[in-house]
Amino acid sequence: MSGELSLIDRYDAALFDLDGVVYLGPEPVPGAAAGIAELRGRGVRIGFVTNNAARPPQAVVDQLTGLGIPCGLDDVVTSAQAGAAMLAAHFPPGSLIYIAGSDALAAEVRAAGMTITRNWRDRPVAVIQGYDPSTAWETLDGACLAIQRGAQWFATNSDLTRPTDLGLVPGAGAQVNVVRAAVATEPLEAGKPSPPLLQETMRRLEAECPIFVGDRLDTDILGANRVGIDSLFVFTGAHGKHDLVEADDHLRPTWIGHGVPTLPRPPREAVWNGDTCRVGDQRAGMDDNRVHLAAVPDAEEDQYDAVWAILQVAWRHPGADTGILDRLEAVK
Ligand SMILES: [Mg+2]
Repeated sequence: MSGELSLIDRYDAALFDLDGVVYLGPEPVPGAAAGIAELRGRGVRIGFVTNNAARPPQAVVDQLTGLGIPCGLDDVVTSAQAGAAMLAAHFPPGSLIYIAGSDALAAEVRAAGMTITRNWRDRPVAVIQGYDPSTAWETLDGACLAIQRGAQWFATNSDLTRPTDLGLVPGAGAQVNVVRAAVATEPLEAGKPSPPLLQETMRRLEAECPIFVGDRLDTDILGANRVGIDSLFVFTGAHGKHDLVEADDHLRPTWIGHGVPTLPRPPREAVWNGDTCRVGDQRAGMDDNRVHLAAVPDAEEDQYDAVWAILQVAWRHPGADTGILDRLEAVK
């Protein structure tokens, strides 16, 4: 090799979204465990970040360990923990908090030094809402009544839907919207794309210059951009090249790569020469109103280089024809 530094060498920690990056539902993402093991072998600090507030952190630890990614409780940060930390930052210890969420959320709020209640008549100072598939309508009524009487509203996250192996079902954001229908205020949110979850993870890892790895532009990449940290978009989850090419500034990642094993490899640098963008051996430019490639490569890694070059050109020329992306069949 040329001795060029790896992408990860530019950062002091790597933070990972879980679903679509490390696992896909119950299945591991191929290469993720080996990639994370390689990073750990190099001494890179690792954090796992999830918007799911219903699962206790230990359940995440058990799942990751079962997928060949050994980790401890300190390595996992959930939106319930970030939400509890927000409460602790807003209110003195012992403050009474109304829980509209799972027992896992209640446990985190208690661990943050707060007192919890599930009765709005107790005059809580705040309501915290988090995903709970067993939420009773009365719980949502109580959240509204507490907020109407001055309690401050917090939410762990606002994901509208939750993918399952049977189909799409309503997520935490749908429960938040039920409450929103009856109150005249907005919640403070902990999870991606709001900053607290990523900020809590950085604090815990004592990371100043981390990279965040995610598969969704509207939560992961937007979240990293809002916190002001670099991001790696991976193609193993929800979004792909057509989502990227449509993305506005605030949804664009710093880097792209097929998956986690991108991190120990050399960075995919885009180099401009006039109106031509070169990435590795791939060159993209404009031809009339079409983005074109000097040649369509066969090798998969070359196709990722080509996509990155095409994206640079397309982002400089909004409205340009990017049909060339369809010829790069190895990239989702
Ligand atoms: Mg994801």
